[in-house]
Amino acid sequence: MPQVNKTLPPSVSRLIDAFTQLPGIGPKSASRLAYYLLRAPSEEAMSLAEALRDLKTRTRFCSVCMNITENNPCDVCADPTRDHSVICVVEEPLDVTAIERSRSFNGVYHVLHGVISPMNGIGPDELKVHELLTRVSAGGTGESPSVHEVILATNPTLEGENTAAYIQRKLAGTPVKVTRLARGLPVGGDLEYADEITLSRALEGRQSM
Ligand SMILES: [Zn+2]
Repeated sequence: MPQVNKTLPPSVSRLIDAFTQLPGIGPKSASRLAYYLLRAPSEEAMSLAEALRDLKTRTRFCSVCMNITENNPCDVCADPTRDHSVICVVEEPLDVTAIERSRSFNGVYHVLHGVISPMNGIGPDELKVHELLTRVSAGGTGESPSVHEVILATNPTLEGENTAAYIQRKLAGTPVKVTRLARGLPVGGDLEYADEITLSRALEGRQSM
């Protein structure tokens, strides 16, 4: 770890160093956060420390969908009112939150925890792809309900598209229906400013009126 400044007390520079490791936090923001906490009431700093500890000690992967959870299986996987035959595959836990917020999906999820990215040395083995394929192929046996549809809801980026294509190839030849989220123009958007991928996806996903 780089020492930010040797004149600082070690406990302060250690915290600054730790903040600097976080995504999107540069040395300036890190110092600002550390000095904010130094001046903040004790309870505020302690509550942050507790939240950090709980984050690592209380959470784990749901053994079914790989989402982050405190209960295993997670609340979605344990919910008998949800359609367990439809699995929506997403990149990150936050994507589950976003789809849940839309209240338009009553199936279950599978969280990949990233996308295939050869540039960054991330292949399918670094993600929860194997767990998905096992889950789909185990469907209908024993306790697992059979899976009818897998919705590939990775992001419409190059890596997201490649990841979706990879999973689609892996599921080809199984009786499972594989679908991809329709892409469209954002509500309130303007055709003129839409990028090529969005525009071509919106055309592909056109519907009769
Ligand atoms: Zn789950």
